Amino acid sequence: MTSTIVIGAGMAGLACARHLADAGETVIVLDKGRGLGGRLATRRTEHGPFDHGAQYVTARDAGFAAWLDRAAMAGSAAPWAQLGVERTWWVGAPGMSKLVAPLADGLDVRRSCRVEQVRREGEGWAIACEGGENLKADQLAVAIPAPQAKALLSGVTPLADGLDAVRYAPCWTLMLSLAEPLDQAPRLYRASDGPCAWIACNTTKPGRSGGGENWVIQAGPGWSQTHLEETSDTVTALLQGAFESWAGALPDIRLSQVHRWRYARVLKALEAPCLWDGEAGIGLAGDWCLGPRVEAAYLSGRALAERILET
Ligand SMILES: Cc1cc2nc3c(=O)[nH]c(=O)nc-3n(C[C@H](O)[C@H](O)[C@H](O)COP(=O)(O)OP(=O)(O)OC[C@H]3O[C@@H](n4cnc5c(N)ncnc54)[C@H](O)[C@@H]3O)c2cc1C
Repeated sequence: MTSTIVIGAGMAGLACARHLADAGETVIVLDKGRGLGGRLATRRTEHGPFDHGAQYVTARDAGFAAWLDRAAMAGSAAPWAQLGVERTWWVGAPGMSKLVAPLADGLDVRRSCRVEQVRREGEGWAIACEGGENLKADQLAVAIPAPQAKALLSGVTPLADGLDAVRYAPCWTLMLSLAEPLDQAPRLYRASDGPCAWIACNTTKPGRSGGGENWVIQAGPGWSQTHLEETSDTVTALLQGAFESWAGALPDIRLSQVHRWRYARVLKALEAPCLWDGEAGIGLAGDWCLGPRVEAAYLSGRALAERILET
């Protein structure tokens, strides 16, 4: 039996860690965030939750579909009823971040632990975290966005050289809580770009009901790129204005917050399930290996775990 440190507790990192742990390996997962799930994110506010990252999940792969069924049986996933969609839209219950709860169950996951440096030490790996904590393991699995992996691993492993090919689009997201329901507006709207490329009434997702209505508005890739370095106040005003033009006069606004995702959706993926150097015992996984979807992150994490177990 060997030990593995997984950096990143998003879908890819946790899928990898779960598979290793189920095979009897010793695993520690480290994440810089306070919660789990990475871009499967839920912001909790006094006016209820907002899914401000991934909006829903679909399954094409039979293994991922089976996993979603198990997550639904465990109460952490539920279908979000939408008419006319080809595949079921799954959401975390009662927030998107909950989707990863069954993967993390029973694992040694250390939050608020930002990995600042990794280096080869003897036959294994030494990991230094912000705040001074040092850890060692036989193998290292890095499951963070490609640009962040590049920064961490340049000069450490030749695997980092392949990461330059990956491209992401950013996404500005507005979270808006209204005191009254917006009866006149559709509950869902999609466009290819612009300030309102995605508009959804978050309150219509299972388990999110409460007083008033919470809305999530996501700007498209071009608009987000153009406004990437604007202040939060400026972007809040622009997105709120665009939403009002779409919805009509708004009732009282109880909360209005924006979040900037610098690495939101993969534009150009590596098109390999994962990267693995069996000699050195280091590998990488993430949505950026296969495509811009939660399912891709899951499949990549599993693929890396399988490579580690084969070795
Ligand atoms: C706004 C938005 C909307 C989206 N909509 C959808 C959608 O509707 N459907 C869909 O399928 N996908 C959607 N996606 C994409 C989906 O969220 C991602 O593909 C998927 O969640 C990526 O998972 P991951 O594990 O690869 O990476 P992440 O979720 O980014 O996880 C990486 C983790 O690594 C941690 N980390 C990073 N650096 C360090 C470090 N140095 N030390 C420790 N920890 C570190 C981070 O905190 C994070 O938790 C959306 C994404 C965004 C942002």
